[in-house]
Amino acid sequence: MMLKFINYSNGYHIASFAKNEVIFNKMRTDGYSCFTVQNYKLIFFPEGWAVDLLEEENQALKEVEDYSIFEFNNGSAYVYYNAASVDNALFITNKCNSNCIMCPTSDIVRKNSGIEDINNLLKICSQMPSDASHITITGGEPFLIKKDIFILFKYLKDNLNEIDYLLLTNGRALSDREYASIFKETIPSKLIVGIPLHGYNPDTHDGITRAKGSFNQTMSGLKNILDSGTMIEIRIVVSRLNIGFIDKIADLIIKELKGIYIVRFIGLEMLGNARINLEEVWIDYKESFELIKESIKKLVMHGFNVGIYNYPLCCVDRSYWALCEKSITDYKIRYLEECDECSKKDACGGMFSGTFRLMKGKINAIK
Ligand code: SF4
Repeated sequence: MMLKFINYSNGYHIASFAKNEVIFNKMRTDGYSCFTVQNYKLIFFPEGWAVDLLEEENQALKEVEDYSIFEFNNGSAYVYYNAASVDNALFITNKCNSNCIMCPTSDIVRKNSGIEDINNLLKICSQMPSDASHITITGGEPFLIKKDIFILFKYLKDNLNEIDYLLLTNGRALSDREYASIFKETIPSKLIVGIPLHGYNPDTHDGITRAKGSFNQTMSGLKNILDSGTMIEIRIVVSRLNIGFIDKIADLIIKELKGIYIVRFIGLEMLGNARINLEEVWIDYKESFELIKESIKKLVMHGFNVGIYNYPLCCVDRSYWALCEKSITDYKIRYLEECDECSKKDACGGMFSGTFRLMKGKINAIK
């Protein structure tokens, strides 16, 4: 969430928000960098800055919970950690060493992205409550921050070890033995690594990542992570590019990746590269579910914990609903007009804001 503070001109700054004086005083005592609102001014501690607030800026802050962490830049602030949400992210970079055809980030955004400074990440972590429930560590490719990622892991292990973490990576960096060994030593204890498998061999996988050698690196990274005893979640992003060989990917997981128990089937988000390559990539959720359901069943029969992400319930057979997750981030969720008539709207995760129009005419309300 991005908020505007047009009179803020103190440059880059990280601070936690306190709605009232009692919380503000507690944060000060506990050594937080923090800010609150007093008489239409933002008051910062320990800096003592006072920044005039506009009425609409004041209103917007009323929606924000205590202990949310803001990353200020002149004129605006990004709510980096939202205390009202059960799933926050440590975002490292939009850069990536792969270039997947169906990536929801575009080439231009990826190429122009910076990499978060490790000191800023540590500062944000130092302000995070230790009872946060879930943090996703994500990019782009988080390992492009290189060995600094191990400083971050170590900090989380030493200070915020009770939190559940999901690290989203293509796993290629962990094919390096030295990286894999430091990884094992530094990660917090409740970390799961989420890694996408796009194909079942180098041709099929690398054809989608457009990064030669990526399949072999990912497979070797997976094996190194398994050796370290860390939990892995395989992510299969279902598109027209791999719909023809999803079953072979399932077979590869069953036969070659012993020790993995979690597999997620991920429906497309049609932004960035995916949108640019729409003709090649897009397959609607109903059609794709019909073509993956036997592979899902096979994995379940082999004892895997299978999840179906980003698929509206009306596109999935009723007997698979228990596997469907409400996986789309709140502010991206959209429904079509037909959904107003649907008896399962509350249980359905809806569709992406960048995708729902493509489902027009294909959605039938559940009676
Ligand atoms: S009709 Fe709409 S609300 Fe109902 S299951 Fe389909 S997408 Fe979800």
